[in-house]
Amino acid sequence: MLVSLKEILKIAEAKNCAIGSFNTPNFESMQAVISAAEERKCPVIIMHAQVHEEMGLCKMEEIAPIMLFMAERASVPVCVHLDHGTDLDYISCGLELGFTSVMYDGSALDIKENYANTCIAVELASRYGASVEAEVGSMGAREGCSEAGESIYTDPDTALWFVKETGIDALACAFGTAHGMYLTEPKLDFERVSKIKSMIDVPMVMHGGSGVSPEDYREVIQRGIRKINYYTYMAKAAAEAISGKSYSQFHDAVNDAVSVMKADVTKAINIFCK
Ligand SMILES: [Zn+2]
Repeated sequence: MLVSLKEILKIAEAKNCAIGSFNTPNFESMQAVISAAEERKCPVIIMHAQVHEEMGLCKMEEIAPIMLFMAERASVPVCVHLDHGTDLDYISCGLELGFTSVMYDGSALDIKENYANTCIAVELASRYGASVEAEVGSMGAREGCSEAGESIYTDPDTALWFVKETGIDALACAFGTAHGMYLTEPKLDFERVSKIKSMIDVPMVMHGGSGVSPEDYREVIQRGIRKINYYTYMAKAAAEAISGKSYSQFHDAVNDAVSVMKADVTKAINIFCK
């Protein structure tokens, strides 16, 4: 069934767990994620990232109706989320298409501009009963590796002000994770997670979730992370599974990729959602 981010994160708060949030830039990844969540009887978030349209993977107006269809018929709660919307017109289109949640990402802007645009996103989303996630601090580039220093980690006082004044439903925080592949093992600032959690009253989101150790996932969940964005390593697992094999039919490669992604997502869900 289709739910908003606010509703799905309430479940996470009650269970003291995190909801797995997976990018699904094609039908196969949607099948993998939703069937894994149904089998584990866990709520799940499927996401379309603006950057995936920019990379030519899928167009929002084509993939959104399929995401919504898959969510509505699922036996578990599913939120259909727009990931890293960096421009407000794109977010408006997403809301019109039926996304139940949007992320406005103003992390590359100065905090005042991020604040002003986030307020507009909250106002837009409220017209549709949709939820808003926003980001304070920065996880670095949306794709690829980043050498992020602590200076761009989320400052707890800024987070408190931002959440109060914008009225967002969830806050993406920077505390040592990065998007894409990790070259070295990430070192997470757990104390920062606890500090922000003690100050704000909306759920916290971790981006760059792929490649973090099971122990670190458990630690951040215990300290208050309620949504974990995950994609890179599931896509990598599927690519590795089919590369080097010779297939005579394309659909056989697709089926293999779906089952490998499903197994990877199941592994993640087993850690995130006890
Ligand atoms: Zn992200």
